[in-house]
This record gives sequence, C-alpha cells and structure tokens, in this order.
Amino acid sequence: MKVAHKVVLHFPPAVVEQPVIYILSRDYNLAFNILKATISQQEEGIIVLELSGEDKDFKRASKYLKKQGIRLQPLLQDIRKNEDKCVHCGLCIAVCPTDALLAERPSMKVNFNADHCVVCGECVPTCPVRAMELHF
Ligand code: SF4
Ligand code: SF4
Repeated sequence: MKVAHKVVLHFPPAVVEQPVIYILSRDYNLAFNILKATISQQEEGIIVLELSGEDKDFKRASKYLKKQGIRLQPLLQDIRKNEDKCVHCGLCIAVCPTDALLAERPSMKVNFNADHCVVCGECVPTCPVRAMELHF
C-alpha cells in the first residue's frame, strides 16, 4: 500500500552531516520532497519533508531513523500565537528549535515568525497560558 507522510526530522549534532535523506531514497525506496530545512542554535538539524512510498518501506525507514537517533514527528497542520493570551514570559523561546519565537529588544516582547516555524509543537505544552495553539 502506497503512503505519503509529511514529517519533521530532528537530527542530533552527531548525525547532522550524514546523507540520511539519500539513504532513505536508496535503501528504503522512499521519494522525498524537502519543504524546509534548518539548523538551530543548538546545532540540531531540522528537515520538514514529504516522504512517499510503500507502507512497509516507510515503517522500515522509521526504524532506521530511530536507530540513528533521529526523531521523526508527523507534521502538524498549523500553529498560531494567540496575542490576547501571551504574557511574554519567554519560556517558549528556549524550546523552539528554529528561532521562530524570539524576544524583541529592549521591550522583550515575544514575537512569532511563522515563516521559521516547522510546526513541531514543542512550544504548545511549554506555554503556561496556552497561547500557542494548534489548528488542525
Ligand atoms: S510561553 Fe506562551 S506566554 Fe510565554 S512568551 Fe511564549 S507564547 Fe507567550
Ligand atoms: S511549533 Fe513552536 S517550537 Fe516548533 S518551530 Fe513552531 S514556534 Fe517553534
């Protein structure tokens, strides 16, 4: 059965330069379409991509990624910052892997840049007032 999944891959620093996407294509017969790629301040690599192929190959590839220490997350649909709720505490900045959430100086107002967001969802449980909202 053919499947297509939009996923976020989190690469730890040790594997950030390995040809993982090439291996997914060569050894697991998965076609890929890279939607976004970035390296965070902590040198964690993030790639958002669509993978398509046979379901059994996708499952084998998922095991391979796990073995490499690469975290695979399904891509969530959309994330928004509710400005009415945000109290600009800055807690979300520490967990955002792509600097989509940054404090503006000198006011320290926390801004959300949707262009940098890979919709990993890390900020959602971190926010004490639930200002980061997932929309499906
Ligand atoms: S954690 Fe929530 S309240 Fe705090 S700055 Fe981020 S979005 Fe705003
Ligand atoms: S979902 Fe939140 S933590 Fe993840 S990239 Fe977007 S703003 Fe940053």
